[in-house]
Amino acid sequence: MRGGQVDQQRYDIAIIGSGIGGSILATILSKEGVRVVVIEESQHPKFAIGESMILESSEIFRQLAETYDIPEILPIIVLKISNL
Ligand SMILES: Cc1cc2nc3c(=O)[nH]c(=O)nc-3n(C[C@H](O)[C@H](O)[C@H](O)COP(=O)(O)OP(=O)(O)OC[C@H]3O[C@@H](n4cnc5c(N)ncnc54)[C@H](O)[C@@H]3O)c2cc1C
Repeated sequence: MRGGQVDQQRYDIAIIGSGIGGSILATILSKEGVRVVVIEESQHPKFAIGESMILESSEIFRQLAETYDIPEILPIIVLKISNL
């Protein structure tokens, strides 16, 4: 679904919300051949809460990226250390 227009096709699953949870789930299911539609009440880009990620979360995302072959996830877990 883009811009409020629903594609004229059937989907296997609808995910409500395109936060990090819904987005990653949609990507995983799509790569597995599931026809997914994501329904989001707001628009991207939008303000996102959060400024850091704990190591446990980073490891979960790294495992998801590796298990489901989703390299697009990796940039959000890259630890950037500057001015050292
Ligand atoms: C103040 C605060 C600070 C935080 N700081 C951090 C941090 O530093 N590091 C960290 O890792 N985590 C942080 N978190 C937690 C982090 O924000 C959440 O864990 C994360 O956003 C959860 O992702 P989500 O996809 O489950 O939900 P969300 O990111 O909340 O996404 C839900 C999406 O669903 C959409 N939606 C909701 N209802 C509907 C509806 N009825 N129909 C259509 N769409 C809908 C919303 O617009 C949104 O886009 C913080 C949370 C808060 C509240």
